[in-house]
Amino acid sequence: MQWPADYSGCWTLQNAVERQGIGLHGGLETTVRLQPSARPGFWVGWLDQPQLPLCRLNPHQVSDTRLCTALQLNQRRLATVEHLLAALAGTGVTQAEILVDGDEIPLLDGSALPWVEALGEVGLRAVSGNPAGLELQAPITVTSGTSFATALPYPGLRLGAAIEFADAAIGRQLFSLDLNPVSFVEQIAPARTFGLRSQVDQLRAAGLIRGGCLENALVCDGDQWLNPPLRFAAEPVRHKILDLLGDLALVGLPRAQVFAYRGSHGLHTTMAAALADLPSPRLRSSPTPAPPSPG
Ligand SMILES: [Zn+2]
Repeated sequence: MQWPADYSGCWTLQNAVERQGIGLHGGLETTVRLQPSARPGFWVGWLDQPQLPLCRLNPHQVSDTRLCTALQLNQRRLATVEHLLAALAGTGVTQAEILVDGDEIPLLDGSALPWVEALGEVGLRAVSGNPAGLELQAPITVTSGTSFATALPYPGLRLGAAIEFADAAIGRQLFSLDLNPVSFVEQIAPARTFGLRSQVDQLRAAGLIRGGCLENALVCDGDQWLNPPLRFAAEPVRHKILDLLGDLALVGLPRAQVFAYRGSHGLHTTMAAALADLPSPRLRSSPTPAPPSPG
């Protein structure tokens, strides 16, 4: 599969493609059909309620970020959108329709790779237009407790993340890279979601993560992993970048360097909302030129 060289163009799918899998939280089998869109952006519709209009995704629909990114889309909720959105935006897709028959995107193997493979199966097609390409005039920082994310103006897209865990198997990890569809597919898409054994036991006891298992998440137990081998030495922090990308995709990829320290879906989606609320013109092809600035 020949992926786009960078994020400067608009792309959609050549054809529809479907995947089925179990939702992490409800443990129910769900079908997702990805299909080409004539309109910019990511649009969600329902296979089981085809009469409802498709809804364009934006960061203000985020309703819950405790275990995943969940959206409230008019009457319906859709959880665990982040890995699918990372796969779409990461490979260069700027417009697509996502049709679902449940309230959760299946976790598949816990990474974005199965979605990337689905996109590779049908291929991408260039469409006319300019990607949203949010441009920053000044740095933006958002915080949550001891966590922060900062976005700086940058000619391309550079993402970085740092995490710190008491569990020795994870410890301190730092990773950053210049992102394009090829570096995304090779270095970020395969990184799987991870959890701590103590949390997993608690969540299971609370009736949550019914679809969670050792096939769709790396589970850390102190100084070891319950289900090795890892796909990368620092697979957890690479997955944080995957999550960050998926959450930023709610607004469209910015031309920015974005760094998240101890990131979470709450922090990432707050950053996406801050980017969405930028007062400056969002389209590089804006017909109204900015007035000349003095000096
Ligand atoms: Zn994730």
